[in-house]
Amino acid sequence: MHLVVFGLIAALAILCAVVYATLRNQSASIWLAAALGCGGIETVVLTSTVRTDLAVAAVSCLVPGAYLCLSQSIRALLRLPGTDRRLIIAVSALTLSSLVLLAAGAGALLQSLPFQIAGALALADGILCLYRKRARDILDTALLGILLTMAFIVFARMPVFPLLFDPQAMDEVLQQSTLQRWLLGAAMITTPASVLIMIAKIVLEVIASHRERSERDYLTNLMNRRSFERVSSGTTTDGGAVIVCDIDHFKSINDRYGHATGDDIIRVFASLLHGLEGLPARVGGEEFALLLPGATEDEACVIADAIRERFHALRHPTLHGDHRLSASFGVAGFAPGETLQNALVHADRALYRAKDEGRNRVASGRTGPMEQVMAGVLRTASAG
Ligand code: GH3
Ligand code: MG
Ligand code: MG
Repeated sequence: MHLVVFGLIAALAILCAVVYATLRNQSASIWLAAALGCGGIETVVLTSTVRTDLAVAAVSCLVPGAYLCLSQSIRALLRLPGTDRRLIIAVSALTLSSLVLLAAGAGALLQSLPFQIAGALALADGILCLYRKRARDILDTALLGILLTMAFIVFARMPVFPLLFDPQAMDEVLQQSTLQRWLLGAAMITTPASVLIMIAKIVLEVIASHRERSERDYLTNLMNRRSFERVSSGTTTDGGAVIVCDIDHFKSINDRYGHATGDDIIRVFASLLHGLEGLPARVGGEEFALLLPGATEDEACVIADAIRERFHALRHPTLHGDHRLSASFGVAGFAPGETLQNALVHADRALYRAKDEGRNRVASGRTGPMEQVMAGVLRTASAG
């Protein structure tokens, strides 16, 4: 039986280590592996040695150690700070008193109580963290339930814990007490179940953060082009407007002040979009889009002009005193049922017009292909 428990613990610890090695940067999995490591060594010590002082001392440290690592893992998973120093001091002091009692030759039950209470305190810390979590999902609730059951098992098994060193005495207890049989069975289910839920949570968390990162632009933290295209694909049920914007003469900023300054100006422009209603995205190098569901084209023009003004009024510390930043904007509204791509084509055309007409301005409206051709012909004629 103990061999099965040890095998299970070892397999779960290896799984945690693999999760850690593959997903990286997941301290929750390494703390969980450490908790299982403590549990695994504890099982080996309990089963392979008779009750020697060294074995008792090892178990006295491993039990609170395992629960402390488990609560650290829960904290890491919930992005909470590490365990409170006062709790670590209390757990250490209780563990130390067990060691002192061992040295003083105290009875097995008295000697084991302080370190068992230390383990229970550490477990309670993890339970409290989960209990205080605001939006608990189904896995959190399941984990909370399992940890509460584990806490009950720890308390109910406190008197018989020292008997784990003596398989014969333990067998007698199990034969006599149905409650202890139930508790042992429950312990064999709750521990692996809690670990599997923790691993599932770690993996789901990593998948969610990868998805989030794949949809965000790394420089500005706005939506990237891919997610903006996903958002703007298909037809719309409500009307709205879309703004596309492009920083003017950006290449010359890079050329004059360097790429790092260029990057910073992109970030500054993005920060102007961040606080606004609607869905902002960085759709190209120095090109941005702002989707405004429910807004009219006129309202979108007012918003675009406010962004334009704010950007133009900015003074970047690296730029020469007389260097004024500017951006051009194209705006197009769309009716319910219309495709957003269609509106984006119109907004793009308006942007080109804003550039053509001298930059640092907002252009809007639907210029059809014919009007575009005519505008091109007129431009060519006037240039000639
Ligand atoms: P216009 O007024 O017509 O828009 O001219 P422009 O110079 O802004 O446009 P152009 O397309 O000629 O140049 C855009 C430049 O933006 C070229 C490219 O090197 C630069 N760029 C693209 N992405 C980034 C980026 O992430 N960081 C920096 N620093 N520069 C970028
Ligand atoms: Mg551009
Ligand atoms: Mg540009």
